Amino acid sequence: MKYLILIGDGMADFPMESCGGSTPLSVARTPSLDEVARLGVCGLFCPIPDAYPAGSDIGNLSLFGYNPDESFTGRAPLEAANQGIVLGPDQLAFRCNLVTLENGCMKDFTADHISTEEAAELIASLGEAPGSPDLEFHPGVSYRHIATVTAKGDTLKNLASLACTPPHDITNQDYAPHLPRGQGNEQVVQLIERSQALLADHPINTARISNGKLPATSIWLWGQGKAPDMQPYQPRFGITGAVVSAVDLVNGIGRNAGFEVIEVEGATGYLDTNYEGKVEATLDALDRVDLVYLHIEAPDEASHEGRTDLKIQAIEDYDSRVVAPCLARAIERGDCRVLIAPDHITSIETRTHAQGPVPFAMCGPGIEPDARTEYNETAAAEAGVLYPDGYKLVPAIIQEATLTAEGQQPT
Ligand SMILES: [Zn+2]
Repeated sequence: MKYLILIGDGMADFPMESCGGSTPLSVARTPSLDEVARLGVCGLFCPIPDAYPAGSDIGNLSLFGYNPDESFTGRAPLEAANQGIVLGPDQLAFRCNLVTLENGCMKDFTADHISTEEAAELIASLGEAPGSPDLEFHPGVSYRHIATVTAKGDTLKNLASLACTPPHDITNQDYAPHLPRGQGNEQVVQLIERSQALLADHPINTARISNGKLPATSIWLWGQGKAPDMQPYQPRFGITGAVVSAVDLVNGIGRNAGFEVIEVEGATGYLDTNYEGKVEATLDALDRVDLVYLHIEAPDEASHEGRTDLKIQAIEDYDSRVVAPCLARAIERGDCRVLIAPDHITSIETRTHAQGPVPFAMCGPGIEPDARTEYNETAAAEAGVLYPDGYKLVPAIIQEATLTAEGQQPT
């Protein structure tokens, strides 16, 4: 059996006025999503356990079939894995943003979308400074970098449990109350302060200012954790996998799952992404591996912008340019199960992620059709199927010989 997991990031939503009291998934024209529902079964699942904030890290981890309670240690180690950084047992990875702080505020969590080349020089200058031999910087793309810390015993434990705030959550707010908090925070706060001194008169920043751009005035450390405990798919399910995504975090989860990570040129994570290239890479990979996880970011981005029109467009693109060709190939092959799902709700009205059950639909060999003929929040709720532990959904699709609307209710 083959498996296609097709994720529309954040495409679930709440009923809203700009959709006439309905949701974007209900309003959008989605013949292929509806076809998956017609050929197979619909239902709801909870990608985000109550104890966690709604985000793509937990949502995608669940959709890969990992229990966040057992596997999630932080966002940074997942992104680090995607950079090929292997964490030892006495190491932690922090996400290290280059940011612009101004007048005590988090002015820009991207340092004005600093270029990868400029960032590499700034990050290198931090690494050359004396002190903190247990810290190592790993330059990434644009403002997104990784810092690894090596420590022992309680020091490591304390660093792992510091309360750190994602910088994108505090745009234009006072940053001081959001510096890392908790026992042993001094070391990390000092690192952030030390970076401010080192970056202040850096020639890269001087040049940026004279070009009318914001300087990168500081690093911001967050999302830290130890290496996640994730058993790869091959020993766990006896199958191989590949992931196609423009998002580091999703690719990092894939690497930890033992997947091949396929980079597609022109994959932007936005409405202008190279949908056709991503689908081609997905269907090529399906000939080599057993399961392909294709992740489309655009519906989430449109939701964060608060744009109903763009979210509907992103869903319709996902339907016609992603699900349609993938479903056609799956049917042609005759040996492939298809799952469509979001990783969490992203609300247009609040412009952020939200907790709550989200709709899925799946079809393929051994999946016996129910009465649903549409894919959206309402139809999925009417199906009466709920996976309260969302991380059990994909393992069920891989492991169960037969899936029916009645029989798939997990215990
Ligand atoms: Zn997401």
